[in-house]
Amino acid sequence: MTDSSLETSDDATTTERGMPLHTRILIGLVMGVVLGLIANIAGTGGKPDANGNGLADWLDAIVYWVEPVGKIFLRLMFMVVLPLVFSALSLAVVEIGDVSKLGRMGLRTLLYTGILSGSAVLIGVVLVNTIRPGTSLPGDIRDRIIAKEQAAAEGKVAQAAKAKSIRDTLIDLIPENPLQEMVGALDGSSKGNGMLAVMCFALAFGLAITATPEKCAVLIGWLEGLNAVSMTVIGFAMRLAPYGAGCLVFVVTAQLGFSILVTLAWFVGTAVLGLALHLFGTYSIVLLLFSRKRPLEFFRQTREAMLVAFGTSSSSATLPTAIKVALEDLKLPHRVANFVLTVGATGNQNGTALFEGVVVLFLAQVMGVELTFAQQFQVVLMSVLAGVGTAGVPGGSLPLIVVVMQSVGIPGEAIGIVFGVDRLLDMCRTVVNVAGDLVITTCVAASEPAEG
Ligand code: ASP
Repeated sequence: MTDSSLETSDDATTTERGMPLHTRILIGLVMGVVLGLIANIAGTGGKPDANGNGLADWLDAIVYWVEPVGKIFLRLMFMVVLPLVFSALSLAVVEIGDVSKLGRMGLRTLLYTGILSGSAVLIGVVLVNTIRPGTSLPGDIRDRIIAKEQAAAEGKVAQAAKAKSIRDTLIDLIPENPLQEMVGALDGSSKGNGMLAVMCFALAFGLAITATPEKCAVLIGWLEGLNAVSMTVIGFAMRLAPYGAGCLVFVVTAQLGFSILVTLAWFVGTAVLGLALHLFGTYSIVLLLFSRKRPLEFFRQTREAMLVAFGTSSSSATLPTAIKVALEDLKLPHRVANFVLTVGATGNQNGTALFEGVVVLFLAQVMGVELTFAQQFQVVLMSVLAGVGTAGVPGGSLPLIVVVMQSVGIPGEAIGIVFGVDRLLDMCRTVVNVAGDLVITTCVAASEPAEG
């Protein structure tokens, strides 16, 4: 692949008025949080509603007009996710060229995903069993929240009812109609496996190109063009990143404020502690052991991707930034970055897996359901698998959480208890998801021969 995709996006995303982009995104996020909290305190008349409800009309109006800025930023990124996934993955296969090398890289990616997700869920499960956050939520508050969130929770339960068996999930990896899968990949309305099926199509497409290279020169050029154009559009979107990400977090904090956080403080604290331990602990150890990369340097070089992940709550929307960071800052080879990050944005979600373990055991404690050791083990396994199957979009894991809950006898409607804080925790777990993809890419690159 050519370097054009990088050159075109480069000047649009690095500096403007002399300040690095990640600093401007950080300023945007901090301003969003601070202004959101001030607006929330002012807009709830100083009497924060425990349910995060009842904003003053003026605050409703502000949220109404601030929200579109965030949404437009998010959509500019989503707009090119599909062309980017398709072109990056098929080009990566073409660049790797050799099926055995591809298989080796795929297996390594899978192995790291298994290790990182497994250790993530274990951290979460140990913390919930030690801190026991579910025992500190009074029963009357629990019932009030469940009643308030009933309608939304029923929607998730209905989505969970559509969850497929492992057999059908495997069959659906191969799309019958790739275009239909593409249409539904980001909003969950696909008939098959959505983004996973699109990725299988791109892999097959790339493999077929390597089998008939002499006939495909034009097609490869076309894919390179598509890839470069997608990265350029992302470059445009990134100009909006400080404002877009700031507006997204403003809306969340203006609506939520502190009140609901205080109500669910033990749960939020447990989840955030687990995510932080995994992000800074597990990832540092894995980096040192398998890539010899200094963790501090890694976190410094990947901060732009982590800030975008925090602002957007979406691994898919952050994929272009993650690819850019991998190529420009971590200086990893194209073929590894394109392959591992594209697969990882959907397939490797350690933060989500950790969160799923925490939330299911927390809700079991809240609902008074005693889980046996075997059931907790089942939660761990299902959370690891659910992390693989979760769409990289805001709230993508909620339907799968209901599936895991129901499998161990917790009523699905109880998910409503955590809705109020989900967006905030979604921002945090998405950071861990995206950082995990970059950790795996760094480790896989370290074990690949340094050609190309
Ligand atoms: N928002 C997460 C992501 O995109 C998915 C989830 O946990 O809901 O990575």
